[in-house]
Amino acid sequence: MGAQIVVGIMTPAISFLFAFVFLIFWYKRRDLAYVKHFAFGYALVGVAFAQAALMPSAFAALAIVITCCLSMASIVPSALAFMGRLNLAVPLKTLLFIVALGTLSTAAAGLIYDNVANMAMIGCATASAMFACIAISLENSKNKSTTDNYIPKILWVTAFSSFMQSVFIWFSAPALDVETFQSSSTWIIINMVLTIQLCAVAVAMAMVCVSDAMTIVSQQAMTDELSGLQRREGFEDLALATLDKAKRAGVSVSLVVCDLDHFKKINDTYGHLAGDSVIKAFGKIIQQNARSTDILGRIGGEEFALLLWNANANGANLVAQQLRSALSQSDLSDHIGATKCTASFGISQWNGKDTYLDLFALADKALYLAKHSGRDCVKVAQAKTEIAA
Ligand code: GH3
Ligand code: MG
Ligand code: MG
Repeated sequence: MGAQIVVGIMTPAISFLFAFVFLIFWYKRRDLAYVKHFAFGYALVGVAFAQAALMPSAFAALAIVITCCLSMASIVPSALAFMGRLNLAVPLKTLLFIVALGTLSTAAAGLIYDNVANMAMIGCATASAMFACIAISLENSKNKSTTDNYIPKILWVTAFSSFMQSVFIWFSAPALDVETFQSSSTWIIINMVLTIQLCAVAVAMAMVCVSDAMTIVSQQAMTDELSGLQRREGFEDLALATLDKAKRAGVSVSLVVCDLDHFKKINDTYGHLAGDSVIKAFGKIIQQNARSTDILGRIGGEEFALLLWNANANGANLVAQQLRSALSQSDLSDHIGATKCTASFGISQWNGKDTYLDLFALADKALYLAKHSGRDCVKVAQAKTEIAA
């Protein structure tokens, strides 16, 4: 009886504790909206087991039916969270079908046939199927981080242990009435295993929360607030990684560097804040004209760089010309009146061997030539010593 009470308190207490922790996390990091689903899932498990512990013994069978159904339902918000954060389509119909099937079978076993062991067995089997369903969907997702690779594994272990629980109940407690079942060692063992599972899934959830929060913080640290582009350090890190990837994939990569023309004059005439607005506007123009595979940076005060994936010098020239005409034609009258802001561009195509610094030096040399050719133009460096218009 003592163990029964401890077990009865332990599962809801741990569930409410996790619900509270995820709620606090969500309150502190509203940008990670999915965390509230984790909190809601654990609160449901807490309610599921708390009501079983509090329900008068005359309604014990009903209490266990409610426990099973709420526990199954609690997996749905977690699925929404795990998949939502990776922008994966949630297999909601499949999950709800499994929950509905599990609920009906559990209710039939408990309320019609008064077979509480079968009821618990169906509950465990249903949970196992749901965890497996989520693990399969997560495994099929692309672009996973290191943390994302661990999550399906934890869910598979949980699915397997739920399945083993139902096998264990099948062999150890066939056809029992509620009171006998609740005082049996089977009930205590499955509750203890369940508590371990709740902790394992909470660890998986905490891993994704912490990893996502860290990613956001490091992205914020790497992003230049004014232009919305990478800062110099972030740009260089990503550029090195991109060159590495391009070498392995045999893909052409080109670098565009640009510098706003006579920017000091714009600052001197219209003020620093107006100059900032121009930098912001040009950052937007760059983002609008780039692809998601390009690396974009503000590498100096009014200097920008784009590392273009799968682009040779001609392709990069087209992009630079687009940026040049978009800037010279953009309406900046709110900031610098009738004055037009222009930019000069230098381009170098990577030869597959040079270092990033060599590539940059080449593009910078072309930019220098663009400045000395009257500005508001694009120059392409064709080889280490040659520079063409
Ligand atoms: P050029 O055409 O030769 O590039 O002439 P320039 O005046 O643009 O070149 P210079 O390098 O002499 O001046 C760049 C100016 O950019 C000087 C600096 O005050 C300004 N600047 C640098 N960072 C910022 C910034 O964050 N905001 C603003 N408003 N101005 C900046
Ligand atoms: Mg400059
Ligand atoms: Mg300049």
